[in-house]
Amino acid sequence: MTIGLLKEELPERRVALLPEAVKTLTGMNVKVVVESGAGMNAFASDAEYESAGASVHSKEEVFGSADFIIKIQPPDSRELELFRHGQCFLAVFNPLVNASLVQEICARGVTSFSLDILPRTSRAQAMDILSSMATVAGYKAVLTAANNLSKFFPMFMTAAGTVIPAKVLILGAGVAGLQALATSRKLGAVVEVFDVRTAVKEEVTGLGGKFIEVEGATDDKAAGGYAVEQTEEFRKRQAQAIHDHAIKSDAVICTAQIPGKRAPLLLRKETVEAMKAGAVIIDLAASTGGNCELTRDNETIIHKQVKIIGNSAFPADMPSDASKMFGKNVINFLKLMFTNKGEFSLNWNDDLVKGSCVTHNKEVVNERVKSVIN
Ligand code: NAD
Repeated sequence: MTIGLLKEELPERRVALLPEAVKTLTGMNVKVVVESGAGMNAFASDAEYESAGASVHSKEEVFGSADFIIKIQPPDSRELELFRHGQCFLAVFNPLVNASLVQEICARGVTSFSLDILPRTSRAQAMDILSSMATVAGYKAVLTAANNLSKFFPMFMTAAGTVIPAKVLILGAGVAGLQALATSRKLGAVVEVFDVRTAVKEEVTGLGGKFIEVEGATDDKAAGGYAVEQTEEFRKRQAQAIHDHAIKSDAVICTAQIPGKRAPLLLRKETVEAMKAGAVIIDLAASTGGNCELTRDNETIIHKQVKIIGNSAFPADMPSDASKMFGKNVINFLKLMFTNKGEFSLNWNDDLVKGSCVTHNKEVVNERVKSVIN
């Protein structure tokens, strides 16, 4: 069995496997072929991949010789053309939304896995790319906010007077929100956090944040710990609470998401217009519509002296550690399929293998994806 590692197109700077991850695979007697330049933007050279036991080739040669193709981003049209029937493919291609791409992969007879639909059980934690990339995004969002703010984050007592600490409001206390809270606190800001899941209150206070409570949130046990859509009545009270806190904040970090749906709209235009001049909003939910009404994905805009940065791709800006974490997740996932002697088999009784498989034998096999496509 040969694994093929593909190069990503810019602006993606991560690579799915760094040389150290490749070394783990070659140590398991798995042959690895790498597309030339695959690690270039994450500061890993072709020579380092060769030292890890891989051989370096062109994209066409990788597709020709590998049985299992690995990358991060969805395949582009050229890559789709190169797939062979029976090949395995692993990436992050958001199959619950990208129905036409799923159908194209399916038609080529590819056995595909998308790590963003991996069931989030405790056994899956070591392979959970959503968590590892949310950690990067939450951290980088805070640094970006601090960098764009015209004030300090920490409090200072200086001969030139006392500098008061920045106030940060975080919307959504999932993995990214909690990391944003921890990073903001390390930089000395005063932090408030809002989430519809009141279960996170203890984690928020434990990390030094103040939890904003809005009564009457809808919780659905069947949603597996995720948030669900809220009633109109709750949304009005929530909008008022967020408005009251946002207008006193210097930075707002938006991280609220609902899996498979548009991100909840939490910061209205009128709230932004009432915010302090010079305030900064970082919207990590930009790619799914944004938590702020004025967010534009992949754009920075200034609206009435408030800067709004719509960026859901922060992990691509920290390619070394983001690739290292991603690669570790991939290796842990591949260990469900490869033995230490390099023998490969797909165990369809394994809930993680089954739950992350999208297409097999020219069929869409994932029930969640199937229901969305139909
Ligand atoms: P996410 O990215 O789906 O959402 C981010 C946050 O936004 C969540 O905390 C959510 O409650 C919040 N949110 C949604 N709608 C909102 C609204 N209207 N207002 C305010 N906040 C809103 O979440 P995530 O970071 O992927 O984690 C979600 C859940 O999954 C958590 O319970 C987490 O503990 C769990 N989880 C499990 C595993 C695992 O066991 N493998 C790994 C990571 C996370």
